[in-house]
Amino acid sequence: MSQIYDVCVIGLGIAGLTACLYLLRQNVSIIAIGREIGGQLMRIPLIENYPGTGPVKGSEIIDKILKELMKYGFRFVIDEVAKVSREGEIFKIETRQGRSYYARAVVCASGRSPIKLGVEGEDKYLGRGVSYCVICDAPLYRGKKVLYISGPEPHLEMSITALASICNKVYWIPTIRSESIGKILEKYKEKIELLENAKLIKIEGDLKVRKAVIEKDGEIIELEIDGVFIELGYRIDTSYISHLVKINERGEIVIDEKCRTSMEGIFAAGDVTSLPYKQAVIAAGQGATAALSALDYLSRKYGVHVRKVDWKI
Ligand SMILES: Cc1cc2nc3c(=O)[nH]c(=O)nc-3n(C[C@H](O)[C@H](O)[C@H](O)COP(=O)(O)OP(=O)(O)OC[C@H]3O[C@@H](n4cnc5c(N)ncnc54)[C@H](O)[C@@H]3O)c2cc1C
Repeated sequence: MSQIYDVCVIGLGIAGLTACLYLLRQNVSIIAIGREIGGQLMRIPLIENYPGTGPVKGSEIIDKILKELMKYGFRFVIDEVAKVSREGEIFKIETRQGRSYYARAVVCASGRSPIKLGVEGEDKYLGRGVSYCVICDAPLYRGKKVLYISGPEPHLEMSITALASICNKVYWIPTIRSESIGKILEKYKEKIELLENAKLIKIEGDLKVRKAVIEKDGEIIELEIDGVFIELGYRIDTSYISHLVKINERGEIVIDEKCRTSMEGIFAAGDVTSLPYKQAVIAAGQGATAALSALDYLSRKYGVHVRKVDWKI
């Protein structure tokens, strides 16, 4: 068995990063693994209800937390956790890229992820023409042609308005019929081409996206495009740990008020948990709670020395 870390933090959105801050301040060893840095906040152009910042871009909040973390020598791994298992009292964490890590405690902060279509080319061109966030990435497509695939998106009108005002041409495949479609089309009829009953089959390109292959009414059509926006909503994926902890009917990890799960040594924080109100400040607060509970666990079970300056249990 290689190095055993005190805590493994899974997911580096605001919940996971806050947990890392609390853990590193106590000088325990951590391994922090995330698919990306920042999570959902990176896709939010303006947050008006995060205390102490005033209206701010989500990415600015993350930048500030990272600066804090760097003071404590924060290091992280960009990868996806595929499975957590138990080997005696220790947790083994296996990743998609084939790495294994070991830790005494785990903090799950894997939040929510955009729903993928699962078509050929989607993963390959992620960040090179494929985007899951219109508001974040539409400005990169000024004067270009794009394909927009919408789902039950609460911001449908905002997204299509942004695309129609920035891009030259918008092909639009709605996956769900919505009352507002007719109204939006009327407003932007010069720019938008509605492709009802159509299905994206493949995304093609070279270094960037160049083409979308779609099927409509039994016919295969090739669209010359520069980008594909897919907004089908978000989902919680706990398959990496659902065999170890209790999951509720919404697929969330069930936690108590101390962010403890049904398994000793596993804690959870943020949007992935059963607690209500999916908000940035709440996710950050739970990240702190999960970290403090993990520290308490390490100190009781393994005698790990922690300075009880930040809290009193
Ligand atoms: C459009 C939109 C607008 C919003 N507006 C606001 C607002 O105005 N105010 C507000 O307070 N909140 C807002 N929110 C909610 C807020 O963004 C979230 O509550 C908060 O960001 C959740 O943080 P988190 O760390 O729990 O999860 P996330 O931000 O989802 O981070 C989790 C991270 O874990 C990664 N991950 C998932 N599975 C794995 C795995 N197996 N291995 C490794 N990494 C993994 C994910 O890719 C992600 O990077 C908004 C959300 C959206 C989508």
